[in-house]
Amino acid sequence: MTRAANKSGVAGHEPSGGDAAARKASHAERVLALLKACGTPRTAYQILDDLRDDGINAPTTVYRALDRLVATKAVHRIETTNAYVACRRESCRGPSVLAVCDGCGAVTEQSSEEMGFDLGALLRRADFDPATATIEIRGRCGACRAG
Ligand SMILES: [Zn+2]
Ligand SMILES: [Zn+2]
Repeated sequence: MTRAANKSGVAGHEPSGGDAAARKASHAERVLALLKACGTPRTAYQILDDLRDDGINAPTTVYRALDRLVATKAVHRIETTNAYVACRRESCRGPSVLAVCDGCGAVTEQSSEEMGFDLGALLRRADFDPATATIEIRGRCGACRAG
């Protein structure tokens, strides 16, 4: 969110730029609040369904809000299921490891500084400067294994 706010210096040209920015921010905030409340990943269309009563009825509104949230790492996109989940970490630095349960769909997020360090070293050797890293691991959670 801070990154988007910094960029909005450009929006100073528009006469009603402030209002538009506030409205966009609140869409993103509502999407984030929903994802935080449900805890499990949701697709853009499920989010749209959930927020329809809230006055959000265009898929592009949801996609734009999700783009902003993913860019600031408030939300992570799960590539293999094309769903979105709220970040559980205080500040999301280093690689995220998303453990996706094939049984119940629950997602947990872990991070490891050591792993981030190792990955960084690995990629520097390949002359590559990594910006973000999200690692998805599929498997079964403890509850599903017990059931
Ligand atoms: Zn995260
Ligand atoms: Zn499970």
